[in-house]
Amino acid sequence: MTPPPACVFCAIVAGEAPRSLVHEDEASIAFMDIAPITPGHVLVVPKVHAVGLADLPAEVGGHLFAIAQLIAAGLRSSGAVRVDGVNLFLADGAAAGQEVFHAHLHVLPRYAGDGLEITRARRPPPSRAELDTVATGIAAALGRLEGSPVTPPGRSAARAPR
Ligand SMILES: [Zn+2]
Repeated sequence: MTPPPACVFCAIVAGEAPRSLVHEDEASIAFMDIAPITPGHVLVVPKVHAVGLADLPAEVGGHLFAIAQLIAAGLRSSGAVRVDGVNLFLADGAAAGQEVFHAHLHVLPRYAGDGLEITRARRPPPSRAELDTVATGIAAALGRLEGSPVTPPGRSAARAPR
């Protein structure tokens, strides 16, 4: 995907914008968030410009997660910031809170009283039938996705390898 000219993360990847680098390899870069949600907040960013999950090659997504695991371990053992726990967070789309439209995985050090709260609306728990209906719909969609290894429930034959 061709990046938009003003993509700040592409500029950081290219070394054309300031960055406090934590890690770099052939496929990813990790640097300090300039507006940390908690102290030590690191962003793991693919070098390829991908807006969201749908544009991100699965192997790159897996790589980002592996690097985030590594950075979480580094944060815990660094002594640089307080780390009693870690959240990994990826916002896919504006409705999910994405602000920079170049996919990125947040690594958030946590400690009790750090001020970050994940809240949710209270709603009655769904019935098993409602859960099953949604699960069936998602599973059917998975089976229709290009290159999906998923066989929807009820279809027994595995897809022939290509
Ligand atoms: Zn970009």
